[in-house]
Amino acid sequence: MLYIKENIDSIREQMNEACKRVGRNADEIQLIAVTKTVDREKINEAIAMGITDIGENRVQEIMDKYVAVSNVHWHMIGHLQTNKVKYIIDKVKLIHSVDRISLVQEINKRAKQNNRIMDILVQVNVAKEDTKFGLACEDVYDFLKQIQPLEHIKVKGLMTIAPYEENPEDIRKYFKILKEMFEEIKLKKFLGVEMQYLSMGMTNDFQVAIEEGANIIRVGMGIFGRRNYNK
Ligand SMILES: *Cc1c(COP(=O)(O)O)cnc(C)c1O
Repeated sequence: MLYIKENIDSIREQMNEACKRVGRNADEIQLIAVTKTVDREKINEAIAMGITDIGENRVQEIMDKYVAVSNVHWHMIGHLQTNKVKYIIDKVKLIHSVDRISLVQEINKRAKQNNRIMDILVQVNVAKEDTKFGLACEDVYDFLKQIQPLEHIKVKGLMTIAPYEENPEDIRKYFKILKEMFEEIKLKKFLGVEMQYLSMGMTNDFQVAIEEGANIIRVGMGIFGRRNYNK
């Protein structure tokens, strides 16, 4: 499966180039390989090529792959149903897709039972698309205040999924808005909130996201090729 190595090399090179354009250091940016619909062999191949973090958007896929794929950090990046938190609470390093208080409360409860503090990102629907989850920008501050009293949750940053545009320049503005909000929250020093990660950028738009300040990018097709949902 030479193509996986070639793809990862190519993504890394594009990451370096994007960094150079804006004077950033590529070491600051974490590449998450998104492995939805990808089988274990291919995931393990990517891990052999230096991938340390993988992202899944369905709880079931994490459960199915967790044992067969080891020595890697798992990230929950997709919409998370409250009743499924219990299945992943001991498996994932970071939940990127936190978008409502009922979910936060359940994560807090399960994290407490597991004797851990769960790191989360708040998902923001910057472009206010009907088809996407996430909070509106203007609701983020209230949300952070509601999370503050919960002792088993640590907010580590923000995440967004930008609208799909053929030309990623057209979504640069959304990345800019989220980066500004990220810096603003950092300055305000909310208790229990540590603005460390800005998770934005996918195969089609990660270079623009990096130019605008992303330090986590989530790349699926760019590494593994087109997804086959009919398996
Ligand atoms: C699928 C997915 C990605 C990766 O998308 P690609 O276009 O395959 O790079 C990133 N983030 C989330 C939340 C996803 O569901």
